[in-house]
Formats: sequence, C-alpha cells, structure tokens
Amino acid sequence: PSWFDQAHFIPPDAIFALTAQYVADTFLQKVNLGQGTYRDENGNPWVLPSVRKSREILSQKLYHEYLPIVGLASFRQEAAKLALGPELFAKQQDKLATCQSLSGTGALHLAGLLLRAGRTSRPKIYIPEPTWSNHHQVFASLGFQCETFQYYNPETKDLDIDSYYAALKAAEPNSVVIIHACAHNPTGCDPSKEQWRELAGIFKERQLFPLFDAAYLGFNSGNVDNDAFAIRLFIEETKLEAGVCLSFAKNMGLYGERVGCFLLATSTEDTAVKTQSMLEMLQRSEVSNPPAYGAKIASTILGDDTLRQAWHDDLTTMSDRIRSMRRALYDRLVSSGKRSDNNPGRTTLTRSAGAPGSWEHLIRQSGMFGFLGLSPDIVLKLREQYHIYMAGNSRISIAGLNEQNVAYVGDSITECLK
Ligand code: PLP
Repeated sequence: PSWFDQAHFIPPDAIFALTAQYVADTFLQKVNLGQGTYRDENGNPWVLPSVRKSREILSQKLYHEYLPIVGLASFRQEAAKLALGPELFAKQQDKLATCQSLSGTGALHLAGLLLRAGRTSRPKIYIPEPTWSNHHQVFASLGFQCETFQYYNPETKDLDIDSYYAALKAAEPNSVVIIHACAHNPTGCDPSKEQWRELAGIFKERQLFPLFDAAYLGFNSGNVDNDAFAIRLFIEETKLEAGVCLSFAKNMGLYGERVGCFLLATSTEDTAVKTQSMLEMLQRSEVSNPPAYGAKIASTILGDDTLRQAWHDDLTTMSDRIRSMRRALYDRLVSSGKRSDNNPGRTTLTRSAGAPGSWEHLIRQSGMFGFLGLSPDIVLKLREQYHIYMAGNSRISIAGLNEQNVAYVGDSITECLK
C-alpha cells in the first residue's frame, strides 16, 4: 500500500510530449512546428545578439546572491516602463505594484494568488476559447471557477468579436477576464484598435477586471509600443485597474531563464502599497525569491540605450522572419508543387492548383502561430506519414519554418487535403 493509493495518472502535457516525440523521430526531414520557440533561418535556437552582449557585460560582475523577495528592483522598474511606456509609467508609478516572477506562467500564478487573497469572495475567471493550453490549469489549480467564452469563429476562421462582446456583457460583475495582450495564442487573431476601445468600455461598464497575458510584447509586430496598445488603452484612457503578466521568454529568447514580471496598475497609492506587500508575502511562501540571472540579463538590456536599440533590432529580425515564413507557407499552399515520386521530400517544379480551400486566414493572423484549421485526422497524418509535428488543434509555430522546409510542409498539407 502507498500513501498515494488515491493518486491518479495525469496524461503528459500535450505540447511537451509532442516535442519529445519529435526529438525521438529519426526521419531526416522531420519538421517541428509544435512548441512556440523561435528558430533561426537554419532551424536552430537563436541567442539574441543583444542578450549575448548583455551576458558579456554581466560576466564581469556576476555575484550569486539572493535577490529581494519581489525581485530585482531595476528589472521590475524597466519591465513596467516597457509595458506602460515612459509617460504612462511616470503617471502611474505610485499606483503600481510589481513583482518579478517565474516567467509568464509564474506571473499568471502570482496574479491568481493575489486575486484570491485580495478579496473576501473568489472571483470567477473568464477565459477565451480557444486559449493557451495552460490558462485553465493555472487558475483551476488555485481553486478558481473558470468559465470560457467563444473567441474564435471556426467558420470564418476569424475573431468572433460579437460573441466576445456578448460574453463580457453577460459576465458576472467583479469577475476577472484573461486577455491576450497581442498575438493571441493559438488563433493569431487580435481585436482591432476600435474593437479594443469597445472592449475596454464594456470592461468598465460591467466592472470586470482585465488580466493581460503579455507573453509576446515586441515579438508580434516587432514594436513593443504597438503590441502594448491594449494594455495602455485600458489603463490610461479607460482608467481601469489591470494586471499585466509579462514574459521575456519569447521576446528576449530567455525561455529557460524564467524571466517574468507581474504588474498591477491600481487606482490608489494606498492599494498599491497594500497589494505590493501582499505580493511580497505570497512570493515568499512560494519561491522565497526569484532567480537572478535572467532578470539581470533583461534589465541590463532595458536599462541601456544602445543595448535596448540592439534588442529592438533583434525583435525586428524575429518578427520579420516569422512574417516572411507565414507568407511563404501561404504562397506554397495556394500553389503547391507536385511530388515527383513517393519520396515525400522531393518536389518537382510542376505547379498544381494548390491546397483546397481558402488560406487567407493564415495571412490575416499575426504572431508566432498559424492556426491552420485542419481536422485532427489530418494533423495525425502529417505527423505519422510526413513527420511534421504540430499541436492537435492544427496550430503551427511559424518560427519552425525556413527556406529549406517550407515547400515540404506546404506540399505535404496539400497532399493530405487532396
Ligand atoms: N501565455 C501565453 C499566451 C503563452 O503562449 C505562453 C508561452 O507559450 C505563456 C503565457 C508563458 O510562457 P512562459 O511561462 O514560458 O513565459
């Protein structure tokens, strides 16, 4: 008998399991479009030049002391300035609580802890459907009741803004709504500026608390200010209190360093002081204090004009390459090459009519992911017969595409659909 007799088996996380399956695959032309990690034009992980430079600077003065409980002060300040922009930061800083976190996931978790501890009754959490695979787990594990609302219309393969508006209008007041600040994962569909304004108005009217999941600032468009539009609109123009969960995994390529920050924009200085003290207590009981190295890398970049400019260039490099691969896949899908024989790797120059159906949605979407709209059996066929790995909902990480494999991927999808 075991103390854990009542334990039950939990299936492995689908996307991490997919990566393991890909790694074990010995087929030479295999393609990994699963996990959202940036790859360079040769399919390799990329250490950003700005990060390399920051590491060189740091290595000359690196100590391994504990950070304060709420994290590195310079990092928290720079992270807040980045998300809010210098002007809004200056106006808001006395009404801001901030806490360094274990990347974006840790920031969401801290937000959940604070939302749970900060009110007598636990708010409902509204989560878009579909969403990042971990949202439900993070909040359900903290005991929240999670409700979903339709975000995407599979018929039009686009944002379902009317359902979004309707869900907010019907939501219980004083609930929390998870918002993807930009580059919605997995659909790649974000509201327009006008739609963001409308949404902010409904949040205000219905007394809903916006919790921004901001895992892709700067990574989406290549420009942080564009990507932070909704965050700044809600806080500055609509005067809402809001939480912002920042991750530096994607935009600095610091996946394994777990660099993140939770920001809370409150409406009074007193609330900021109290929530800051609560964050400190909550962090102390969870991880005592956060890891130092990644936060030092990030704050060195953000705090130095030259390095920050170099980072902006890196963001442009990444987002431009993703955008051009999105286009390349689209072009191949609408006019696919025909295979010369049964070897799935070889294509001739003969052009066929392309993959059935419309692929405009791929071009409309933005960010790291393409949401193809393939059925689960096609996704499985692509994996088993063509060694092309993507999430079960046919989300692909566009960064996994490059000049060497994009034709193969486009042609394989075409073949599967014909
Ligand atoms: N939120 C979204 C929407 C994401 O896509 C991710 C990562 O894929 C995260 C949060 C959190 O990532 P991390 O904890 O690695 O920063």
